Amino acid sequence: MEKKEFKAESKRLLDLMINSIYTHKEIFLRELISNASDATDKLYYNAMQTGNAGLSREELAIHITPDKEARTLTISDKGCGMTREELEDNLGTIARSGSLAFKQEHDLGSDVDIIGQFGVGFYSAFMVAKKIVVVSKPVNGDAAFRWESDGADGYTIEETQKDGHGTEITLYIKDNTEDEDYDQFLETYSLRNLVRKYSDYIRYPITMDIEKSRDWEEGEETNGQEYATYIETETLNSMIPVWKKTKAELAEHEYEEFYKSKFGDYDDPARCIHQNVEGVVTYTALMFIPSRTPFNYYSKDYEKGLQLYSNGVMIMEKCADLLPDYFSFVRGLVDSPDLSLNISREMLQHDRQLKAIAQSIEKKIKSELINMQKNDREKYEEFFKNFGMQIKFGIYSSYGRKKELLEDLLMYYSSSEKKPVTLEEYVGRMRESQQYIYYACGETTAKLDLLPQTEMLRDKGYEILYLTDEIDEFALKTMGSYKEKEFRSVSDADLDIDDEGEKEEIQKTAEDNKSLFEFMKEHLGDDVKEVRLSTRLKTHPVCLISEGGLSLEMERVLNAMPTATEKVKAARILEINANHPIFAALTKAYAEDKEKAARMTDVLYAQASLIEGIGVDDPVAYANAVCSLIADN
Ligand code: ADP
Repeated sequence: MEKKEFKAESKRLLDLMINSIYTHKEIFLRELISNASDATDKLYYNAMQTGNAGLSREELAIHITPDKEARTLTISDKGCGMTREELEDNLGTIARSGSLAFKQEHDLGSDVDIIGQFGVGFYSAFMVAKKIVVVSKPVNGDAAFRWESDGADGYTIEETQKDGHGTEITLYIKDNTEDEDYDQFLETYSLRNLVRKYSDYIRYPITMDIEKSRDWEEGEETNGQEYATYIETETLNSMIPVWKKTKAELAEHEYEEFYKSKFGDYDDPARCIHQNVEGVVTYTALMFIPSRTPFNYYSKDYEKGLQLYSNGVMIMEKCADLLPDYFSFVRGLVDSPDLSLNISREMLQHDRQLKAIAQSIEKKIKSELINMQKNDREKYEEFFKNFGMQIKFGIYSSYGRKKELLEDLLMYYSSSEKKPVTLEEYVGRMRESQQYIYYACGETTAKLDLLPQTEMLRDKGYEILYLTDEIDEFALKTMGSYKEKEFRSVSDADLDIDDEGEKEEIQKTAEDNKSLFEFMKEHLGDDVKEVRLSTRLKTHPVCLISEGGLSLEMERVLNAMPTATEKVKAARILEINANHPIFAALTKAYAEDKEKAARMTDVLYAQASLIEGIGVDDPVAYANAVCSLIADN
């Protein structure tokens, strides 16, 4: 018989599995049972839909058989089964291809990570088995096939015999090693515990034959044995969907286990939300906030949505209409008796009940997040690192309509607190005379700390929010204000931080040097709108600021977009620090040598641009001007 190689990528993943040091090898059972349950679901719902019911859940039990002597563990289902092609496609390659490439690209390190990040379903069985045999017969075919593999060098497929449709997976359990007890996977009591732990909610019976003992009855042949033994088929799981239980009946770990098995995450969720609503609409929602960003979250592959059930029967795998984009990270399910089982996707979109549920869910998620922010700050900060971008984007892309819902979820790094703060906290600390919420935009908080524009503000004790995501300033501009306090960039023309005495003095210096500033503006031409005296600088000689709605940061972001055909330009103002020695040199040159004053103007403008991260149009000319000024001295 021909032996087929696994596809290269699958093979490497298999190597990882076989040699895995992953400590939770036991999860293989959950994976195989989930697959069996999915396959049974397919059969069950197909049958219902074609009006071919008549099958009861009891008849569709998933059966587990440990055999200590043969060292095998068999999991069999009466599900839809697989054709030869399906066996080959499903078990010969890794379903989630690309996962290994991703791992290598991001250098995720040990094998724990790959299991943790993606889960690998069926393949996880190779953590405990040295050989796996799968015998499967599809529900609509007569032929059964046998797939066999020891993982390492490929697999074989051949035709075989099987009674009834479904799939039977036999694991040849590894021998015990010094560190690993594989025998436990052949023991009825530990298997029973594993099923209860991981697969309790599975809605088909998971059964196992258990040897029990009883007293001899009178007249029975005892063969010298103390007790008679007999076999009883025990159902191991309660079959009650977790969300049908009350909150009081459920421990935190049960939610977590359910989340992990249902949504294929290997980390506990950051938060579990269980909501029971009765009234205009009646529903139960079980929702989870993942503790990590799914690897494809910020790509177009990511599909948002909640599973939708009507009285415990699934009607849709991912109902996108239940989740707004800004909460697309939430995973979970909704079960409502108000929804009709046979509703089509198109009709569902316009369903009033569904809309009402979506609205109520949105409120609930918001209040849970606020609760987390107030009572579990560390976790919330982690959450915001993972998914905050999505919320900021929600504010921006809704043109501010979602401002009220989302603004309190925002967090920005604070110049004075040295950690992320909420807008509520910022405003709560504002002094009475402070009009604006100040912010600065840049690549990193460290760089922003060094930005000349922030110096005077910080010196005067104002708190500044540091914005480091491209979307940030756009989102704040869309909001306009928070609790009636306007947002104002440190690079904005008017900061309103000077007291009356200062204002007078500035006015006077500005008057005295009016012709110098006009000369500089004349020299720089269209590059700047104005040259003027600065009130925000302390130790730096110059800075660039912008006037009007478009900031220098927004100019950079917009022009970097691949779709930007026409470049936008912010109105620039060059500000000069009158208290800096450079200013004295400048006024001197202006009085004695206009050509030198012009060169100094060029250099100062270029410097201000460089500090802004804008760069200069002609670096060579800039370098020459600097050199000539040095040589002049
Ligand atoms: P996943 O379940 O995440 O898709 P797996 O590697 O666990 O990944 O399984 C791959 C595929 O093999 C499944 O999607 C399913 O189509 C098929 N499969 C696995 N187990 C069974 C089974 N017991 N019955 C029918 N099909 C199965």
